[in-house]
Amino acid sequence: KVRVRFAPSPTGGLHLGGVRTALFNYLFAKKNNGTFVLRVEDTDQNRFVAGAEEYIVNCLNWCGITPDESPANPGSYGPYRQSERKPSYRKFAEQLINDGYAYYAFDTPEELDAKRKDIPNFQYGQATRMQMRNSLTLTVNEVEDLLAAKVPYVIRIKVPADEVVYFNDLIRGDVSFETSLVDDKVLLKADGMPTYHLAVVVDDKAMEISHAFRGEEWLPSAPVHILLWKYLGWEADMPAWAHLPLILKPDGHGKLSKRDGDRLGFPVYAMNWTDPKTGDVTKGFKEMGFMPEAFINMLALLGWNDGTDQEIFSLKELEEKFSVERISKAGAKFDFEKAKWYNHEWIKAQSAERLAAGVKAELEKAGVAVNDEAFLNTVIDLIKDRCTLLPDFVAQSSYFFASPAEYDVNSVKPKWTSEKAAFFNTFAENLTLTDAVAAETAFKALAEEKGFKPGELMLPFRIMLVGGKFGPGVFDIALLLGVDETKARIEKAIA
Ligand code: GLU
Repeated sequence: KVRVRFAPSPTGGLHLGGVRTALFNYLFAKKNNGTFVLRVEDTDQNRFVAGAEEYIVNCLNWCGITPDESPANPGSYGPYRQSERKPSYRKFAEQLINDGYAYYAFDTPEELDAKRKDIPNFQYGQATRMQMRNSLTLTVNEVEDLLAAKVPYVIRIKVPADEVVYFNDLIRGDVSFETSLVDDKVLLKADGMPTYHLAVVVDDKAMEISHAFRGEEWLPSAPVHILLWKYLGWEADMPAWAHLPLILKPDGHGKLSKRDGDRLGFPVYAMNWTDPKTGDVTKGFKEMGFMPEAFINMLALLGWNDGTDQEIFSLKELEEKFSVERISKAGAKFDFEKAKWYNHEWIKAQSAERLAAGVKAELEKAGVAVNDEAFLNTVIDLIKDRCTLLPDFVAQSSYFFASPAEYDVNSVKPKWTSEKAAFFNTFAENLTLTDAVAAETAFKALAEEKGFKPGELMLPFRIMLVGGKFGPGVFDIALLLGVDETKARIEKAIA
């Protein structure tokens, strides 16, 4: 039975790498008729940020990858927040101590700081643990006294000397780590909360997680987790590991960070994130005008492909075609231009009905009132090929809702003559608009009759209707505007 989990820590906005981890978990679950679990890893109270969990849930919903089990929609493996599972961890930490795989450490923060100053690159582990104040160096009585006196302590894993931890990663193949390089990670903190390392193992076991997809940044932690699975006697139930490739900066140098987005002017978060302490807003793909379908499509192709040149996939299609074998080991460069390309493709392929709500919201934000939904849909169909991000619909369509306030006069005026004005007067007087082709034919015939090349009049006509040198076919525009409005705009322009 396939059960996967997305296990974010609620520490702030959701980076696109996080969404991709969620997406790959989701796709793997769907592909294998499995269950996609959201588990909130909130054991680090110093990093906890109010509102972050709700934000993460909203992001997943916006993306259309809603978990099957989550804090809001629990299955039978709850609770789904680690802070609410607090009582379940201690006994495992104590079991590890009893079995000789972990120990109490009583070092104070000051003592640890002093050691860090003394020893360059200090690591609490095999090389140093015997110089510290812990249950390996103190007598049994001393330890009991300290515990009885409620002196604060942590519980650390006792990483074995000179062993090699092997595992098979679904993406990377055989991976091995020398234990001499692994430090004695804290498992249970002084406040009684487990660290991520203990909680992730206990919960993956309790929630019967079969496959763990997570970012490559967790690879160095894998040996600790694997040792814990073994030491707790659960090796047979250990999930299969899949460490996803990094998402790299556009130049390929290093991991993409929020700062890159700020510096280069693109979003890195799924949705706008407001820091509750500072009120600072970090921009998200949603508010920049991305369609969730395009965002998800773009993310799926950051490190995965189906083996063909196909780049446009619906979520449904991804659910069918996703395969771990086709996830690459190499980091995937994030390219904002490519992200926009995906959005453009998605907008073009979308029905006007699907786009209408987003477009209407953008128009209203820009002060353009939309009263006629059917009219809006017709407009959307006419201009969507010209739009990359949702806000582009404003510039591309506001002239349908209000006569242009300004004209791009420089592109017409120098060649403007009273003969041309006379032409437009006559054209307006006889205007009928039932069909764009017929209107164009009439326009051209009249132009020739008056001795003009139709080409010289087409651009002025466009400027009168649109205000600038852009937009779809000018007779399509006129048709949508209707006879009265088209006439009014001609008259206003030549007045
Ligand atoms: N809580 C970890 C994170 O914030 C999850 C890592 C994992 O999936 O094991 O990314």
